[in-house]
Parts: sequence; C-alpha cells; structure tokens
Amino acid sequence: METIKIAGAGPAGLSAAINLARKGYKVDVFEKNQDVGGRFHGDFQGLENWSDEKDVLLKLKEMNISINFDQYPFKNLIISNGMKNWDFKCDIPAFYLIKRGSAIGSLDNGLKKQALDKGVHIHFETVLHESQADIVATGPYAPEKFATARGIVFQTNLKDLAIGLVNDKTAVKGYSYLLVAQGQATMGTVLFDKFKNLNRCFQETKRMFNQLVDPDIINPHPMGGLGSFSLCNIFKKKRRLYAGEAAGLQDLLWGFGIKNAITSGFLAAKSIINGENYEKTAKNYFNQKLKASLVNRFLWEKFGIKNYEFIVNQIHSARDPLKYLNWIHNFNILQNMIYPMALRYMRERYRNLRLE
Ligand SMILES: Cc1cc2nc3c(=O)[nH]c(=O)nc-3n(C[C@H](O)[C@H](O)[C@H](O)COP(=O)(O)OP(=O)(O)OC[C@H]3O[C@@H](n4cnc5c(N)ncnc54)[C@H](O)[C@@H]3O)c2cc1C
Repeated sequence: METIKIAGAGPAGLSAAINLARKGYKVDVFEKNQDVGGRFHGDFQGLENWSDEKDVLLKLKEMNISINFDQYPFKNLIISNGMKNWDFKCDIPAFYLIKRGSAIGSLDNGLKKQALDKGVHIHFETVLHESQADIVATGPYAPEKFATARGIVFQTNLKDLAIGLVNDKTAVKGYSYLLVAQGQATMGTVLFDKFKNLNRCFQETKRMFNQLVDPDIINPHPMGGLGSFSLCNIFKKKRRLYAGEAAGLQDLLWGFGIKNAITSGFLAAKSIINGENYEKTAKNYFNQKLKASLVNRFLWEKFGIKNYEFIVNQIHSARDPLKYLNWIHNFNILQNMIYPMALRYMRERYRNLRLE
C-alpha cells in the first residue's frame, strides 16, 4: 500500500494519520518541533460541545479517535463583563477542558500515542515542505491571522471553574478567560484587533480576575499564539489535501478550531481510503459553519455595545443556551439573510483575510 506523507503533527495531521494507519496505510508524519503540541504550553483549551447536535467526545469516537487524554466536562460557567456577571448552568457539558502541549494527559500526547500504536512513523524536528506532502496540516497561516492570544499557565488552590470575561479593556473585540481544573489553571486574553495592546490587555485581565476571584498564582509559565481563517479555503492543491488551520478552518467568532482540525483530518483520510472527493466533502461540511462564524463575528463586533451586555443577555436568556449556540453556528436562515452585509463589513475590517 502507498505511503502517505503528512506535514504537521497537530490534531488535524494526527487525526488523518490515525485513520489512514488503521486501514493499513504506511504513514509518515513530519513535525518541525521536537515533540507534539510544540506551540502550546500545557494550557487548557475547550473542546466546544455546541456546534453539533452530538456530544463532541462521541463525535471523536465516531472518527476513530479514542479518549485517551484528560478531559474535564464543564456544565457551568460564568461570563462577566466586569460590571455584570451571568451564570450559565447547562444540562450537558458546554465544553470539555483539555490540555495542549506534549505532557502526558494532553490531547496532543494522546493523539501521538494513538498514532504510534497504529504504526505511524513520526519524524520530529523535521520540516516537510508543503510541496512534498500528501496532506498539509501545518496549522495557522500567519498572513491570515485574525486573533492573537497571550496568557499564563499556573498552579492554584482555586476550585474548578471557568470564567469568560468580555470587556474591550481586557480583550479588544475578544475575550479573556480563567480556566481551573484540579489545581491547574490557564488565564489568557484573546484580541481580535489592536494586537499591539496584547500585553496591556493581559495585565488588565489579571487585574480584573484578581478582583473577581483573587486567584493565587503559583509557578506561572507563559502561553499564547495566533489563529488564522479563510473563506476561500484551499482543500486541495495539485494532489495535496489541506486540513485544519492550514486549510483556513477556524471559528471566526471565538477561535474554537480543534474540532474542525480533527474532523478535516478525518475527512482527508477517508477521501484517500474511499477514493472520495475531499474538496467536495470538506466544502459541504465546513462551508456553512464558516459562513455562520463570519456572521457571528460581524454581530459580535457590531452589537458588542456596553461591553457585550446585549449579546451575552441574548444567549443567557435563551431557554437552552447550548441549543441557541448550536443554532447560531449552523448558518440559520437569519444568518443567511445578514450574510451579504456581514461579508461587506468583514472584507473592510479584516483586509488580510481571504473572504470570497
Ligand atoms: C492560545 C490558544 C488558545 C486556543 N484555544 C482553543 C480552544 O479553547 N478551543 C479550540 O477548539 N481551539 C482553540 N485554539 C485553536 C486550536 O488550538 C487550533 O485551531 C488547532 O490546534 C489547529 O490544529 P491544526 O492541527 O490545524 O494545527 P496545529 O495544532 O498548529 O498543528 C500544526 C503542527 O504542524 C507543525 N508544522 C508546521 N509547519 C510544518 C512543516 N512545514 N513541517 C512539519 N511540521 C510543521 C507545527 O509545529 C504544529 O505542531 C486555540 C489556539 C491558541 C493559539
């Protein structure tokens, strides 16, 4: 059977590798860093559980990904804008906290183990040029950056909690977050504009979280990174398939890209195995979701008045906030109507992004 070369050992590349190897393909993954998860630092990220009807862990299992990494379900969270707090109590997990980086228990380490167990060869500290890869899963493309994050990972005596902070002083057009599970914590701020304010915003984030919960911060380490997005997604160039953020797959509203990365890796592998047209299946699967996220960002920026009070109230007052989030992540009829206006605004606002 032919050997498949994959550039990048992130969630997209490893999901493709696992699926190909289980069908008997010989798979070589090339990773420029010395281990998986190299651009992360043990920080918590959220596997969101609202954009599909099915529970995200079930979705992963259906894509042949085992849950061999630590995950902490969160049904409750607090959103604050510094003046007002909203308590969200959901019937099912709103998200699962997972850890990123190379440490045991992280998503990246779990995926690595699954790939190695299936006989995938991972060549660390080896750059594979895009032109030599069968699957390109190299992560964000810096010229198409839409958000940038900075924060710290630390130990704390706080009990488990998740707080989102929406306030333009702490995160311009974005949000800050404090996530705690079993004595480990991540505090970060994500900006969607005025990136030069990142440090100042993070200091302000710390100050606000001090006022809100006064966390003890033990042994802090820095973390951060960027996100990139495109609506003119390149899923295939010549014979090469593109997955994850390398294909521009991200959520333009809040930057939840992991599920997209794993799903696109799975679809890329499936297309090779079954001789399917990946470009077509990926477009079918992602196009509406990406358009929805563009409209959501437009609304977030346009109606983010009074520090997002109007929008958070909207979500909070929904009978089922997760169902509401599901509705706004799947290009509903209202979003369809707003789309042309949103696209015009977003083209001006994010001139570096390729938006059809
Ligand atoms: C601070 C931060 C917080 C985030 N929080 C969340 C969150 O809470 N929830 C969520 O869903 N998403 C979150 N995201 C986004 C999420 O992490 C990404 O969308 C996801 O990791 C993308 O997966 P990927 O496989 O496409 O790319 P990556 O995870 O970036 O993996 C790409 C890999 O390719 C390697 N590579 C690059 N070029 C080459 C090359 N030429 N040869 C060999 N190797 C190469 C890189 O070293 C990297 O390991 C966050 C991102 C950041 C930066």
